[in-house]
This record gives sequence, C-alpha cells and structure tokens, in this order.
Amino acid sequence: MDRHYLPIVTTFYYSYNRVAAAPYNFPTGLPVQHQQLKRRKKLPEKTRQKSKIIRCKQIIPAVPGQQAMDNACIVCHDNTIVEVGPYRTLKKKYSAATTDLGQVTITPGLINAHSHLNLSGLYNKTRDGEGFIPWLLSLLANDYRTTDFSSVKKAAISAQQQGTCCFGDILSGHNLHLTDILDELQLHYTCFYEAFGFPHADAQHPSIPYRTTPLQRISGAGHALHTTDPDCLRVIKRQTRARNLPFSIHLAEHQDEMTMLMGEKNSFYNLLKDRELLGNTYRPPMKTAVEYARDLGILDAATLAVHCVHISDKDLNILLKSGTNICLCPRSNLFIDVGRAPMEKIIDSGISVSLATDSLASNHDLNLWNELFHFLKTIERDFTLEEAVQLLTINPARALLMDRELGSFEKGKIFRYGVVPEEIVTYFEKK
Ligand SMILES: [Zn+2]
Repeated sequence: MDRHYLPIVTTFYYSYNRVAAAPYNFPTGLPVQHQQLKRRKKLPEKTRQKSKIIRCKQIIPAVPGQQAMDNACIVCHDNTIVEVGPYRTLKKKYSAATTDLGQVTITPGLINAHSHLNLSGLYNKTRDGEGFIPWLLSLLANDYRTTDFSSVKKAAISAQQQGTCCFGDILSGHNLHLTDILDELQLHYTCFYEAFGFPHADAQHPSIPYRTTPLQRISGAGHALHTTDPDCLRVIKRQTRARNLPFSIHLAEHQDEMTMLMGEKNSFYNLLKDRELLGNTYRPPMKTAVEYARDLGILDAATLAVHCVHISDKDLNILLKSGTNICLCPRSNLFIDVGRAPMEKIIDSGISVSLATDSLASNHDLNLWNELFHFLKTIERDFTLEEAVQLLTINPARALLMDRELGSFEKGKIFRYGVVPEEIVTYFEKK
C-alpha cells in the first residue's frame, strides 16, 4: 500500500476559549503525477503512463446530493477525472495501475476563497481580540506594503500540504511575483487585484492586469464600500463581468463600517481621514452595506461577498435574490473581534457559502480543516460530513467561477485531493 503523506505539525487554536488543539498530520494535495504508481505488466506503455486509478477507504465527491462512497476509486487520464465509483467494479473496467491511499477519506482539493498571502509575514505581529481599529493600527505599524515572499511561499506550501489546491487571494500589494510562487508550487488561483482609495485616481479606467487562464487567473476586486471609490467598484465589476471572472469585496465586516455608511463620523472615519485615505468626494450612502452594494450593481452570482458579519434578514434576502456568494471567515472575525456572522441564518437561507481563512495577520494558520472544525464547533446547526466538505470545495469553486475544473470529483474535472483529518472523521462518527 502506498501512502502519500507529507507529515506536518501545525499548532493552532480553534475555540472561542482559545484552547490549544492537538496537531494534525495532514496529507498532501499534490497532483498525483508526483506519486509513484504501481504498474501492471500487460498495460500498453502509453496507457500506463497516462491513466491511473486512485483508491482509498472513502471518497466524498462533493457533488450536492451525493453520499460518501466506501472502498471507492477515481479513474484519471492525464490527471483529468474519467470516472468515480466502487473500486471492485472500476478496477475490472479499466486496465490502469492503482495507487492505494489506504484507510483514509478523501475530498476534492480544498479551495481557500479568501486569503491575503501577501500579509503572511505579519503572522503574530497584529493585535488579537481587541477590535477592528486596534487590529488595523497594529497592521499599519508593520511594513505591510512590502511583501515578504519567503513567508508567502512557506504559508502556501503549508496550506498545500493540508490539502488546499487553489486560492482566491487578494493582491492588495499588487505584486504579481506572488502568482509566480503559486505557479511554481502548481497551485491554482484567482488572484484579485484589489482597488482601494477614495477617490480612486483611475476610477473610470482602473488598470488591472487581467488574466483569464482557467486555473491561474487575475481578476479585479474592491476592498470595501467605505474605502473604495464607488465609480471604481462599478467599473471593475463591469470589467470582470465582461471577462467572465469573479469579483470580490469585503462586505459588512465590522460595526464602524456600517455606521460610517449611515453617515456617522466615527473613529474609523477619522482614521481614514487622518491618513488621507478618504477624500472630500466621500458621501455616505445612508444605506446598509448590502443595500448599497445592490444599488451599485455589484451583486450577482459572480460576486463573492466576504465576511457578512453585520447583515439583517432583509440584507440576507437581497444577497439571496441576487445569487451572491458569501464567504465566511469565522476565525478571522473572532481574531479581530468584529462580531459573529449570523451563520445559521446564512446557511439556512440556501445561499452558496464558502469558508475561508483570511490572512495570517488575522488568523493562526491557513488551514481550511481548522477553519471547518472551528465553524462546526461554533454553529448551532447540524451538518453531515458531505455538506461540510462542500463549504471548502464545490461552493468556493462556484464562487470563483472555477467549478468547471475544480471543486468536486466529477468526470472532466482536474484531479486534486485532500485527506480529511482523523479528528474531523471522528467528530462526524460520534454524532
Ligand atoms: Zn480580507
């Protein structure tokens, strides 16, 4: 039996009480061409090299409505999925070598729909649990504009070893070298070239180096409604729509954002003014963040609304009707102490929800399994393992418009996988 583990020890904290949890040994999500395959003698040379069967104890396809499959396998040709099903049947149907991953449960490669890899060097350098402004000031006190690429690479490799195969990353530093690192690691991505500032110097013609390659893309994003010129947001949304690319924005993350949009000159408003980030053209819309986003025309099925901590039932309905995807970052919200999103209502609304880590400036790691574990322990709602896995796979793939290639084990998609940590398997078995 071949096992493909790259053991890595990750120390993390997951509960509201910040109780240290046991480290995991996470397996690799690397493409299988890096792995040694068992070969059968009779196979023609060409088939032997390009086709393979990957078998394990349990497969979660992450296809809505489909259950986990025991003693199952995935047949691949050139790393593209040909068929998924029972091992006993498919090993007779296909004469390809089998790689046996053993007694593990696998899922499609995980997708982190909201990260800021360029902030990886700020790990342990920001204020934890004191509110948005103290956190932001601690961020600004560091050299946050200069990307520490060795930390970026380390963080990306660590996430990859834990099963992440794709990032929806915010390129707030606008340094495209970050995509070279992801390319080198064979990670997939949609990197969001983020607009920030009020007014924005190029609001009508923001210069974004769009890249539409299916698995390595650069798209546009706005930072937030209270920090980014509305004209610029509208134009970028139009541009991304025309290119069939996703758009991302931080939405309703903290209370000061909400009251500032309602016209209050609060401490966050003063901070932006002091730092000359808020020009005289700023006009409070006197609406909630979600209402304002709707009126700007930036909500649709190709928009990823990140955080959504401070939303009302009415806001939720607007997001639902527009088809907007929500990205929850519960550990980041806890770290910064901005409140807790109405997670139960959001999930029950039927909106497509992804779970993401945000950055190492507001989280303890970029481990999506830890994010899921924290989410499961803090949400007052039951999930099956199949449902939970969708928050890290098919839902973010859909939100990033990458679900033709990634997000589930289905015919025609690229084969990438993650292994469900034993603690999460056990958590569901005990329920
Ligand atoms: Zn963010």
